[in-house]
Amino acid sequence: MQKVDIDIEAFRRDMDAVSTFGATPDGGVCRPTATDADGAARDWFCRRLREEGMQISVDQLGCIFGVLPLAGADAPLVLTGSHLDSQPTGGRYDGAYGVVAGLHAALAVARAIKSSSAQPKCNVGVVNWTNEEGSRFAPSTMGSAVFAGAIEAQAALAAQDEKGETLAAALAKIGYAGNDSAPLKLAAYVEAHIEQGPVLEREQRTIGVVDGNWGTAKFIVEFTGRAAHTGPTPMHERRDALLAAARLVLAVRAESDATAGALLSSVGRIEVHPNSTNVVAERARVYVEFRDIDQARLDAACRSFAATVATIAQNGIRAVVTQTTDRRVADFDAGLRELIEAVAHEADISSMRLRTVAGHDAVSLATRFKSAMIFVPSANGISHNAEEFTASEDLEAGARVLAGVLAHLVRN
Ligand SMILES: [Zn+2]
Repeated sequence: MQKVDIDIEAFRRDMDAVSTFGATPDGGVCRPTATDADGAARDWFCRRLREEGMQISVDQLGCIFGVLPLAGADAPLVLTGSHLDSQPTGGRYDGAYGVVAGLHAALAVARAIKSSSAQPKCNVGVVNWTNEEGSRFAPSTMGSAVFAGAIEAQAALAAQDEKGETLAAALAKIGYAGNDSAPLKLAAYVEAHIEQGPVLEREQRTIGVVDGNWGTAKFIVEFTGRAAHTGPTPMHERRDALLAAARLVLAVRAESDATAGALLSSVGRIEVHPNSTNVVAERARVYVEFRDIDQARLDAACRSFAATVATIAQNGIRAVVTQTTDRRVADFDAGLRELIEAVAHEADISSMRLRTVAGHDAVSLATRFKSAMIFVPSANGISHNAEEFTASEDLEAGARVLAGVLAHLVRN
């Protein structure tokens, strides 16, 4: 097999470069979808794709594809990548790592092909998916979910941020309201990502071969009561939407406690209207999520949660429940998992199997295409935080394994 070598110096340069967009004083990044910082990171990415002679296309969700047509225009595509958007309190590695490692893995594959006589069967490309994080526009993994056909492009583009701006308008503002057709003839999608959890570090392994994903169910519950003066209004006449929300927060936690913490549950956000100190809250929106490795236990928690909402919504309080995410427990492609393991083994890099608790673009893609993920360790398991850190040698080992996997897929 021809050697597939990452240009490590260029990889490090690009990791440093991408970390400057939306950089925060504490060493993290703030790069929510379609903000100026996201726009600047995208401009940089497109410039790098052009410098490397890649064909660029931008689909209607603003996802950016860079392709090297090694096997001809009609050949299937082996795709890698991740996302350049971040949480408001993001670290340097979440998403950006997979895009930069993906770029350099694709370039390494092209160099290896060029220096061999073998005829490649596939093209190779790297993608920046729009709005993986979902912090400014819900739901998360939006670009990849539209690509995989799980949600309609028009519905995604109509999503609004807190100020009422649509994703479509925000993308147009930064120059990424694309209209190229996305390359849908995918042979495989393989994404490198930091683990964002403590398992690899604890087990002292460099590569995580991701078996599949946990199930995730997310809901928005909107309670409506009646605005009233917090002074003269008698207690028994109050229709307090915030009180209902508070009861729900505790009930959501109780679902997890009932499984001794095996089911993960959280309420991360509440919006209160009118949010005034002397008005009984008229409306409260509660953002609820449940995650579990066991789909049956997750389904049971969702049923119990629905019953709880109905119990709370009494005495003049109305509740409307909207489910925003229903990600089922699923496995990544078995052949790809074995290939990642074999490539790591051959390179003498330690690996182990694990499952991802967090959602990823690769999870969206797996509903329609052969997909897999490669994890590298996160120091102390910290992510969505400026302290997020992965050692250089781990980042580089992950990029090498990714390149080896892509090379195998492009040739065979
Ligand atoms: Zn991510």
